[in-house]
Amino acid sequence: MGAKTELIGLSKEELQKALSDLGEKPFRAKQLWQWLYYFGETDFDKMTNLSKDLRHKLQENFTVSRPKIVAEQLSSDKTRKWLLEFADGQRVEMVYIPEADRGAVCISTQVGCAVGCRFCHTGSQKLTRNLSAGEIVSQFMVARDTYGEWPSPTNEVRYLSNIVVMGMGEPLHNLENTVKALNILSDGDGIAISRRRITMSTSGIAPRIVEALQKTGVRLAISLHAPNNELRSQIMPINQRYPLEKVLQACQDYQAGDGSRYITFEYLMLDRLNDSPECAQELIGLMKKYHLRATFNLIPFNPWPGCAFRPSPNNRVREFAKILENAGFAAPIRVARGQDILAACGQLKSQKNSEN
Ligand code: SAH
Ligand code: SF4
Repeated sequence: MGAKTELIGLSKEELQKALSDLGEKPFRAKQLWQWLYYFGETDFDKMTNLSKDLRHKLQENFTVSRPKIVAEQLSSDKTRKWLLEFADGQRVEMVYIPEADRGAVCISTQVGCAVGCRFCHTGSQKLTRNLSAGEIVSQFMVARDTYGEWPSPTNEVRYLSNIVVMGMGEPLHNLENTVKALNILSDGDGIAISRRRITMSTSGIAPRIVEALQKTGVRLAISLHAPNNELRSQIMPINQRYPLEKVLQACQDYQAGDGSRYITFEYLMLDRLNDSPECAQELIGLMKKYHLRATFNLIPFNPWPGCAFRPSPNNRVREFAKILENAGFAAPIRVARGQDILAACGQLKSQKNSEN
């Protein structure tokens, strides 16, 4: 007997094909999809509108898996962090950031990351491997399991209302699986997180930006972090390959296709490195030059053991925000969450073993 096929991560078409190979009609695929992604069911025996015979066939041929929860931590501010392990023993961290009446789940696309941004804990770890589409989707499903948010809520009131692809890894280095996963997560017959409530953050893999957004319809965030190439290359080596001009040109191309879409530019505030008023002015110049409809997200730097940077002092961050706001840009300062459990942006690591 061959190995069983994992169902989580198959597209609708693939699921239909898998069932038709078993001699089943297309509507069975619809029912199964609903069990998997609307009800979050993992036990074939509980899929009661499927015949006993079909359930048996499913059992023989397929699996429905979740990553194993190796550890779970709850911050004093209610941010939750999970350490998840996949079948081959590789691990990623996932974070849930609750707000009063909603919340965002931060998911990963790779184990480690090859981009190597100097300020990022994940980036200090190198790339181990890409996650499959199923591994990306099933992270979110673990969060749903934890909060008991099955079946998928039919209104917009939910604990887990938003997804941010801001965990470990560079999504555009794992484009195909990420696109597939985001399309499963946003499918209206299943998990049904609206595309407008999903944000994908990239370090700026310029040639893939437009394609990824066209194929998913999610929102775009760019990790900008510096207003000129000299500075950006210092902290993000990827900038030598895809300099600011290329990244911003791709942003312009994306907005040319859909004028209503704002892009969020993430900007890490690093003490005396990129936090001067001149840097803020230079940023404004860039936005004007490329005619971008942009909002900024000023991110306080979250230190991790062994890092070489320090966060900007609050007054400098506020001054920076003010300059952007005066030029007509929204520039909220991100509130760091879950710091007591190292769950904030850029602090995630797979903690597989001591050499990491
Ligand atoms: N690889 C993608 C998505 C994951 S990183 C990207 O880089 O955009 C998510 C965000 O966290 C990025 O904006 C990243 O620059 C930021 N980040 C990385 N290290 C950080 C740190 N130590 N403190 C705060 N934010 C950090
Ligand atoms: Fe990779 Fe993003 Fe970290 Fe850079 S910030 S090393 S792209 S995960």
